[in-house]
Amino acid sequence: MPTYHIVSLPGDGIGPDVTREALKVSKAIGQYYNTEIDITEYLVGGASIDEHGVPIRDEVLDKAKKADAVFLGAVGGPKWDDVAKNKRPEAALLKLRNELGLFTNLRPVRVYEPLIETSTLKREVIENVDLLVVRELTGGIYFGKPRITEKLSFGERAVDTMVYRSSEIERIAEVAFKAARKRRKKLTSVDKSNILDTSRLWRKTVDQVARKYDDIEVSHMLVDNCAMQLVRDPSQFDVILTGNMFGDILSDESAMLTGSIGMLPSASLGKDSAMYEPVHGSAPDIAGSGKANPLAAIGSAALMYRYSFDNNDAATDIEQAIYDVLADGYRTADLQSGGSNEKVISTAEMSNAIIDRINQKQESTTNA
Ligand code: NAD
Repeated sequence: MPTYHIVSLPGDGIGPDVTREALKVSKAIGQYYNTEIDITEYLVGGASIDEHGVPIRDEVLDKAKKADAVFLGAVGGPKWDDVAKNKRPEAALLKLRNELGLFTNLRPVRVYEPLIETSTLKREVIENVDLLVVRELTGGIYFGKPRITEKLSFGERAVDTMVYRSSEIERIAEVAFKAARKRRKKLTSVDKSNILDTSRLWRKTVDQVARKYDDIEVSHMLVDNCAMQLVRDPSQFDVILTGNMFGDILSDESAMLTGSIGMLPSASLGKDSAMYEPVHGSAPDIAGSGKANPLAAIGSAALMYRYSFDNNDAATDIEQAIYDVLADGYRTADLQSGGSNEKVISTAEMSNAIIDRINQKQESTTNA
């Protein structure tokens, strides 16, 4: 039986609440696919600052590099808002992405039919939305140097630097074109080329890569227009390819198409490492209350099966179970829309419902 070694980094706030449930589901599905999951847990983010004085220890980074996959909850919270910037909980995320070489971030956005009424957008706008945001994760303004805040005689001055090399753009464009080939063969590259040099290089490089993929329909869109199109007519998109900061913002916007930020999973992939995490933050306002929606984390576990364990069937089973449980009317508090068949349940009850569904499906397959 293959055994996969997972480094679990639950983090802060609702991070531990949702990670616990996602790993429970990962173990449950593993039984049916002859897959053993071995989990080692470490502190990260604020929890690590409190215990060890740093957001992530070198030893943990080392274990993460050697793992088959890293599973992360979320980091941060008001308690650590005032610590120095290189000691902030979020520094752990940037370090993990950088040191594990996780240059690709995949954020699939699918609107589940049973949740259409939960979205703030109209049914006709969001039905049939099924898009993939491919975000570059280790370059751009989040990593560029210089990065300083300095005191001057007339006040303070801060500088961030946006840098992209053509090789970085080429590498992520290749991922996006290959993904488009397995989907509806449509790619929209998003930039701000009317203003930024990095965006002009982005556009030119994407066009060069596009020559190898003449089966893919490519278009370019300015980021401000894309932000607008995502709420006007999101089903026009198949694969959205974009840089680090634009991808961060557009994928949170896309999350709301699905009804809640608690629904959006993500996979961050490099050449030899992978990390899976829900897109949402640590939601300190609901931490430990049993109100956190674990479906983004459970969806991330599905992506872990798909990309790290090369098991698309298990991934699809988890995603189908999510759909079925929602169709049965089960909702965490963030998903309530006032529908008559809605049953509001806790974080743990939601993952138990998913596991029940997985078990039912497997038993019916065995008995058939
Ligand atoms: P957030 O995503 O934590 O919360 C935004 C809102 O969405 C809150 O009302 C929250 O209750 C709700 N929410 C988020 N996830 C939910 C879930 N699974 N179920 C139900 N409701 C959910 O964003 P924020 O409030 O801007 O940030 C809070 C902290 O998280 C900050 O410290 C921030 O830096 C950090 N953060 C971490 C990550 C990460 O670890 N990847 C990402 C974003 C923000």
